[in-house]
Formats: sequence, structure tokens, C-alpha cells
Amino acid sequence: MSGTDLAVDVAIVGAGIAGASVAYWLTRLDPTLSVAIVERDTGFAQASSQRSASSIRQQFSSPVNIRMSQFGLAFLREAPDRLEVDGDRPELGLQTPGYLYLATPPQADALRAQNAVQRAHGAPIELLDPAGLSARFPWLATGDLALGALGAGAEGWFDGPALHTAMLRRARAQGARLVRGEVAGFELSGAGEARRVGALRLADGSRVRCGHAVLAAGAWSRPVAALAGIALPVHARRRTVFVVSCPEPLPDCPLVIDPTGFWFRPEGRAFIGGTTPDPDEDDLPLEPNLGEFDEALWTAFAHRVPAFEALRIERAWAGYYEMNLWDHNALLGPWPGLANLHAATGFSGHGMQQAPAAGRGVAECVLHGGWRTLDLSDLSVARLAEGRRVMEANVIG
Ligand SMILES: Cc1cc2nc3c(=O)[nH]c(=O)nc-3n(C[C@H](O)[C@H](O)[C@H](O)COP(=O)(O)OP(=O)(O)OC[C@H]3O[C@@H](n4cnc5c(N)ncnc54)[C@H](O)[C@@H]3O)c2cc1C
Repeated sequence: MSGTDLAVDVAIVGAGIAGASVAYWLTRLDPTLSVAIVERDTGFAQASSQRSASSIRQQFSSPVNIRMSQFGLAFLREAPDRLEVDGDRPELGLQTPGYLYLATPPQADALRAQNAVQRAHGAPIELLDPAGLSARFPWLATGDLALGALGAGAEGWFDGPALHTAMLRRARAQGARLVRGEVAGFELSGAGEARRVGALRLADGSRVRCGHAVLAAGAWSRPVAALAGIALPVHARRRTVFVVSCPEPLPDCPLVIDPTGFWFRPEGRAFIGGTTPDPDEDDLPLEPNLGEFDEALWTAFAHRVPAFEALRIERAWAGYYEMNLWDHNALLGPWPGLANLHAATGFSGHGMQQAPAAGRGVAECVLHGGWRTLDLSDLSVARLAEGRRVMEANVIG
């Protein structure tokens, strides 16, 4: 499309997992709807959805995040049926050995309090004392630990890029149109309560006129929102994932979150892991920072798993977290003051697992003007203006 005009009911900016999920749910819930997803790079070279660690947990401290991941897990289990196209059923390789959050004595009460919230919301997370941890995971050093929390059967990992590809393909099979182009502006009209988006302007001069617009541009959501005069606190923060090999197997290894903050999990016969960089700066180039795996991190890995003394770094990759600096949680739903603009962004490191729920919630807001199947109001964009923060204790890096 170049220099032409398209008119649709809903135009979505960005065809990563967030945009694809909104398009999937819109076209599934109302097959008569016309939906365009505008994407500047249909090879998704930098998209977070193709660079994710793609893990899913229920060990959050806020009920809305627990509910979203429970919805995500159910969706992943049903995905081969839900996302089948022409007899081709996506293979997402879901495995559920759990997340294992580890706590030192001063951290144990907080882990117990979170566990109570999780269990109250139906998350089957088991608490293990050091003896229980050693019995279950003999390769783990437990000397400095007081407690572990394990969600075996309910948490784990999957092939995130395959989910992204399958979600987009199914949305297109249901009628969503993928438009290649870069959104370079918004046409706004009206004033006060009636202020709205009339069209997206693309860099090649095309326009996509729309009844509703959805901002799902991942780590680039802040510059895109600025085109509509909106200040969005979503920042592109680079994360490096290291692929390491270990001569000894670690039977039944879950995704381990160390009390010092680093994480690792199996990936095939190797392991992947990472940590939060310090300092954590905006917009760094998307190249892995090998220096992050320094002596201190190596020592920390080997301290927790003595077999990692002999680990070898095989390779590394980097991707952006679309970090919402307001409170490190997703920003969803209608934009106050721009009635027909909706957000699905700011997932801050948990967007792969939350995309199925976020897509459904935002699609229902577009279709019905409010939350329906899932009440995601805690994560509504309105909280920025209200000064309300979602206090999620378990943010990973
Ligand atoms: C290293 C790493 C590990 C992660 N681990 C996990 C995990 O274990 N579990 C989990 O749930 N999540 C994880 N995440 C987070 C998850 O991957 C992201 O939250 C999710 O992929 C975000 O999806 P998105 O669609 O919002 O963004 P993206 O996938 O980045 O898609 C945004 C799209 O918008 C397009 N775009 C941007 N600007 C424009 C424009 N102006 N015009 C047109 N198109 C535009 C981009 O080209 C891009 O394709 C991880 C992320 C990283 C980087």
C-alpha cells in the first residue's frame, strides 16, 4: 500500500504478540469487523516477541497478574485447537516444571505472604523448606536459604516466537489485514470528551482511517504515543539472555529465581539465564552485552548450583523489555481524553504470557466499551492520570 487510503473499524499499531492477540480476539469475537494491523517490519527483526524467554508463572503478588497468567496458561493448552489454520496446528512445546522462587531468611516472610495471595487466587504454589528443596533438587545449594516457592504443573515455558507467528496467522485467517508500513502520525479531531483518532498516517503517505485505534508498538510505544501528543512512560530497556551449557544434568530443573535476582532455566539440553543490568539505560543497541556475565554473576551461578562452576557460555541474544516505569505493569484499555484510542503495551517483561488475556480484554473494550470476560481495570491506562500504581512485588529484571 502506498499513498492510498484504507478505512477499517479497528487499526492496530504493531503486529507483535500484543497486536496479534488483539486482532485475533477482535476477529474471533466479531467476524464482521474490519481490522488492520500496521507493522513496519514484517520480518520482526527487533520485535520482543521474537526475542523472548517465553516463560509463564503464577507467582505474582497482584491478583490481576495472577488471573492473566492463569488465562494465558489455559490459552496455551488450547492453542493447537484455537490457532489451527487449514489443518496446521501450532506446536508450542509447553512445559510446566514450575518457577522456583528462592528466599533467604530475611526474605522468607514476604515469600510466605505472596504465597497466601497466590493460593487464595487458585495458584497451586507449594512452599518448600531447605530440606524439601534439597530432596527435590539435589543439585541446588540450599545452605543460605530459608524457603522456596514452586509452581510445578502450573508454570513453565513455551515456544514464544511460535505462539506469536501462530496468533498472527490465525488472526489473518479470521480476516485481519496485515499492512506493511510505519505509523508516522495520527489524525486527531474534536475537542474535550469528543477528541478522537480519525486515521493513522503512514510514512509512505498512506492513511488508515479507523473507528478505533490500538497502540501495541511494544518498546517503541512511547515514540508512537508521542505522535498523538501522549507522554507514555514506556521505555526500551535491553535485556541480554545467555545460553550456557553445563556438563552435569540438573534433573527436573524449574525456572529458578535466585534471591540475588538472576534467573535460569533449561532450554533443550542447555540453560538460558540473565539478570538486570545496572545501570539500566534506555534505547541501547540490540546487541547482547557479554560483559554482564561477569565474574560476580558467574560466582553467583556457581554458588547456587555448584555444577555451574564448569558452565560454558555458548551464545547470547538481546531484546527490549517495554518497561513501564510508572509501576512495571501493563497499560491496557481506553486512553482517557482520546475516546477511541486503546493501549496494549508496557508489559515490562511479562507480555508473552499476558498477551492472550490482554488481547481479549482490549478487544472487549473496543467492542463493548468496557471490560467483560476479564476485569483488567486494575491495569487500565487511566491509572496514570489517577496517580494509582499496581504494586507488583515480583518483577523480574
Ligand atoms: C529477553 C526477553 C525475555 C523475556 N522473557 C519473557 C518471559 O519469560 N515471559 C513473558 O511473558 N514475557 C517475556 N518477555 C517480554 C515479552 O517478550 C514482551 O512483553 C512481548 O513480546 C511484547 O510484545 P509486543 O507485541 O508488545 O511488542 P513487540 O513484539 O516488540 O512488537 C511491537 C511491534 O511494533 C512494531 N512497531 C513499532 N513502532 C511502529 C510503528 N511506528 N509503525 C508500525 N509498527 C511499529 C515493531 O516493529 C514490532 O514488531 C521477554 C522479553 C525479552 C526482551
